[in-house]
This record gives sequence, structure tokens and C-alpha cells, in this order.
Amino acid sequence: MNEVKSTIDKRDGVSNSDFKIGILGGGQLGKMLGLAAANWDVKIWMLDKSKSFPGGNTCSHFVEGDFKNYDDVYNFGQQVDVLTIEIEHVNTDALLQLEKEGKTIHPSPSKLNIIKDKGLQKQFYYEHKLPTSPFRLFSGKEEILDAIEANKLRFPFVQKSRLAGYDGKGVAVIRSENDLSKILAAPSVLEPLVDIDKELAVVVARNERGEVQAFPPVEMEFHPTANLVEFLICPAQISDEISQKAIDVSMKVMETFGVCGLLAVELFLTKSGEILINEVAPRPHNSGHHTIDSCYTSQFQQHLRAIMNLPLGSTKMKTPSVMVNILGADNHTGHAYYDGLSEAMNIEGANLHLYGKELTKPFRKMGHATIVADSLEKAKSNARKLKEKLRVISL
Ligand code: ADP
Repeated sequence: MNEVKSTIDKRDGVSNSDFKIGILGGGQLGKMLGLAAANWDVKIWMLDKSKSFPGGNTCSHFVEGDFKNYDDVYNFGQQVDVLTIEIEHVNTDALLQLEKEGKTIHPSPSKLNIIKDKGLQKQFYYEHKLPTSPFRLFSGKEEILDAIEANKLRFPFVQKSRLAGYDGKGVAVIRSENDLSKILAAPSVLEPLVDIDKELAVVVARNERGEVQAFPPVEMEFHPTANLVEFLICPAQISDEISQKAIDVSMKVMETFGVCGLLAVELFLTKSGEILINEVAPRPHNSGHHTIDSCYTSQFQQHLRAIMNLPLGSTKMKTPSVMVNILGADNHTGHAYYDGLSEAMNIEGANLHLYGKELTKPFRKMGHATIVADSLEKAKSNARKLKEKLRVISL
């Protein structure tokens, strides 16, 4: 184990002002990790293509480079004490080498290799008897078409590209012969269409001391066309029993992976009351953004605590909340302008988090707002108001 980590363990606190946390990725998640770290005496280093990205403002040192490139990751990793990610699709070969040389890396690169491939992720659940929908792996479009032709594959099914899919971009729902043109030409996982009652998420944290903590389950409501979360409701409107089941499954997934840091577990609650794992992300996640404003500890602070092997913070909820992703308006591409910002800020309990992306595009995540209120009903109606008032456009 490296020297700095043992320094932290001995002092049992973040009291080493030379301590450097390296983050691969300088997007909004990096930015919010940087904001959380700014309260402590630690240095945040980031690696991404441009310092003008959201994270550029909230780190002590920004290295311009490519987190998919071996040398860039290796060289960056050598200069920091603990290395973490804000995106899965980084060069894990470089991370494996750094780990061999004694660098502390969370999540561990071998687990990251499993998680970033949706096929390996599904196999992991299957091998460890963790609840998930049945699945089959296909090498590409041809093999899928052949299976349909030979009556070995039934409609409807969901196809997910094994690598590099996010925000629904690598997902196709194939309901009938009419959808064949939508089949993705990529190695993929095929699953039957799950009869979803609600989509839930539980963000879990684990440190090297073996402490595990889960945030309260949240419920996601999706935008009907963009396939992005539109409202994130906390607490999820489910029974205590289902809530506990969701937490139990998520803690079990975390303990089975055994990673340190955060693990966001996306779940399906089926119409028959089953909890199935959809997928996980070993990093801060969109489904935990509300924690900044509505929980005792934010997911970002929790990730930092976990990767530095500090005690985990309380995940208790302070207030009900609804989180809204602020997306680029349809038909607007160009320099971002926040239309209706003052009106949005006038809404009681609205906490705006604008990521500082210079350019807006249709449905690009430009920020989020967490609306807190005494009741979920109030938070929801204010969230709807905010969505009506605030638009990210280009002039
Ligand atoms: P991404 O990694 O792009 O977010 P997901 O695997 O989470 O992709 O899928 C995106 C969305 O597609 C899910 O949130 C859900 O709404 C829908 N979906 C995914 N798998 C299934 C399934 N087996 N049955 C029904 N809907 C699904």
C-alpha cells in the first residue's frame, strides 16, 4: 500500500494538505466531486480533453489529455495518491499497471473491466446468483437476424450494446419485425422486455474498512422521447418492504463486487413485485444528485470519504426532494443561454446546479435542479413549474 494512504489511516482524518486525488474525467461529476473536496484540505487533479470542461473550475490542477489513452492515464496516475473515475470508459490497462505498482485505485480496475462491459456485468450477476433479467449475448446484428430467422429469438426484446452505451444511447427496443432496422450493429446483450412497474436506484458506498451505507431508494421517471431521467423522486413512492428489498439487493451487489467508493445500482421493480438489477455504475451518478441538497451527506462527499477510507457519512434524508435534469432544448444548438433563470430561482426550494457547458445541444445535460419541500407533492409541483420556466436555448 502506498505511503500517503497509510498517513491518512494513522491520522484518521484529511489532514495532509499534499494529498492528491486524481479523477479521470472532467465533466459535471468531476466538477461536483471537486466542489465537495473544496471543503477539505485535499487537492483534486483531473484528466480530460479540455480545461474548459465543467470540472476545469473546481480542481487544483487540470491535465489536458485523453482518459482512454494508456500513456495519458499512466502518467497522470503516477502523480496522484488515489485515483478514481467519473466515467467508466477509461483505459483500464494503464490502471491495472498502476495498481500492480502499488497505486490506490477506486474502483478497482478489474471490477471496472467487468462493469464497463454490459455482457460481463450480466454474467457477473448470473454467476453470483444476483437477481437480474435473463439475457443472451450476441456478436452483432447478423447473428441476431439469423436467430430471428431461425425462430430462436422472440419479440419483444431489448438490445444493449455491450460497450460505451449511456443515457439510453446504446439501447434499442425491438418489438416486432418492423423494428429490425433499429437493431444495433455491435456486440450486445439481449434481454426480454421486463414488465416494469417502477425504475428505482440505490446509491451505495463502501470503504476499505468494509463499512457499507446505502442512500434511500429513489424513483426515476423518464422523458418519454429522450430516454433520459426527467424527474428523480426521493423517497421513492414504494412500500417500506419494497424499499428494504431494494436496499438489501443493492448492498449485496456492492458486497459482491467489493469495490470502494460509490456504486449506483439501477433497479427494476416489476409488476409482480420483484426487484431486478438493471445495471450499476461505480461512481457518482445522476440518481444521487439530489443528495447534495436533501441528505445529511452528499453522494460526492460520500465517494471522497469512501475512497480515502474515512468513515462514511450518514445517508439520512433531510427533506423530500425532486431532481430535474436541465436539458438542452430541442432545436437549439450553440452557445448556451438560460431562459427563465430568474423565475426558476424564485421557486421556493429550487437549488440550481448549472454545469457550465459552453455549448447546448438538444437533450444535452446542462445542469440539474433539486427542489426540496416539506412534502413530496409540493416538491413535485414546484419541479413541474421549474421545468416550464427554465429552458436552455441558443440565441
Ligand atoms: P443506459 O446504460 O444507456 O442507461 P440502460 O440499460 O439503463 O441503458 O437502459 C436504458 C433504459 O431502457 C432503462 O432505464 C429502461 O427504461 C429501459 N430498459 C432497459 N432494459 C430493459 C428491459 N430489459 N426491459 C424493459 N425496459 C428496459
